[in-house]
Amino acid sequence: MNLPVLKDSFGRAIRDLRISITDRCNFRCFYCMPTEAMEWKPKPEILTYEEIITLAEVFVGLGVNKLRVTGGEPMLRRDLESLVERLGAIPGMSDLAMTTNAHFLRGRAEALKRGGLQRITISLDSLTPERFSLLTGRNELHRVLDGIDSAIEAGLHPVKVNCVMMRGINDDQAVSFAEFARAKGVHVRFIEFMPLDNGKVWKREMVIPGEETRARIHEVFPLERVQSENLSETARRWRFADGAPGEIGFINPVTQPFCGHCSRIRLTADGQIRTCLFSNVEHNIKALLRSGATHDDLIEFIAATIEKKEERHHINDPEFVQPLRTMSCIGG
Ligand code: SAM
Ligand code: SF4
Repeated sequence: MNLPVLKDSFGRAIRDLRISITDRCNFRCFYCMPTEAMEWKPKPEILTYEEIITLAEVFVGLGVNKLRVTGGEPMLRRDLESLVERLGAIPGMSDLAMTTNAHFLRGRAEALKRGGLQRITISLDSLTPERFSLLTGRNELHRVLDGIDSAIEAGLHPVKVNCVMMRGINDDQAVSFAEFARAKGVHVRFIEFMPLDNGKVWKREMVIPGEETRARIHEVFPLERVQSENLSETARRWRFADGAPGEIGFINPVTQPFCGHCSRIRLTADGQIRTCLFSNVEHNIKALLRSGATHDDLIEFIAATIEKKEERHHINDPEFVQPLRTMSCIGG
């Protein structure tokens, strides 16, 4: 199907929409949410499934062909399977993925796959129970590992495992994660810690450059670069030189920004469009939608919003201002 391509003012085609379906979460990863009581958005402020589908259809009509369901923890939202099924059925959509902490995945992965979910990314930052508890505030490593197994068994291939590397917190586990990738045949992707945390604990010294992690793994398990044709792919990918299964990827937004090829846009659970993870402004499409906007009004609003997409983030500039909303509210 020949669909139009929506381009921003820097000529970047917008292909990838991340939809946060809730700001709630059952974990309290310290780099994402505070440990004290969170103030959740009241239910009426959260987009209904009907509204999400309406907006997703407009985006897909404008050339978006990748959708990712995220949160907060998306699996906390009731009847997620029905949403996935409806998103997967939008004509013109070619890739439907989800990011989850996998706590609730056992028993549901098959239905999600049947409903049209093609890929899954599971977040896991430590392979030892004690450290996992410290990082997430929950003693549930076993549930996440079981969730990863259930995703593999359901054939959600490749299963990607996202690990945020932080100096002095979990960087000693880089090689263990590589062993995990080889043993399970999953794609482990190390993400540089970004200043999007609620506790404002981010410090540049805590960021482990992806290159440092790669060198550490390479010493034990030599790696070979996987060349990707997809310029907008965020991860630099490597395979094991000895042919072992699994892959290692590095998402280096701090030390090797990829803004020049960014094809992403975000819809928050409360109906705001964000043109960059680090935007300090949001665009209220929910208000427009709920005021009885026509399909054409929505198209016009989205096109005008995409025009405003930032050229790049400013994490590395002295004038950088951390966004007010954290990752759990924006949707990672
Ligand atoms: N709850 C789901 C999960 O954890 O997979 C989905 C939402 S979570 C906000 C999406 C991703 O954002 C996770 O992989 C998480 O590790 C990542 N993330 C959250 N805060 C981050 C930060 N400050 N820097 C880098 N990645 C972060
Ligand atoms: Fe929850 Fe995911 Fe944030 Fe952890 S990273 S607190 S699992 S939303």
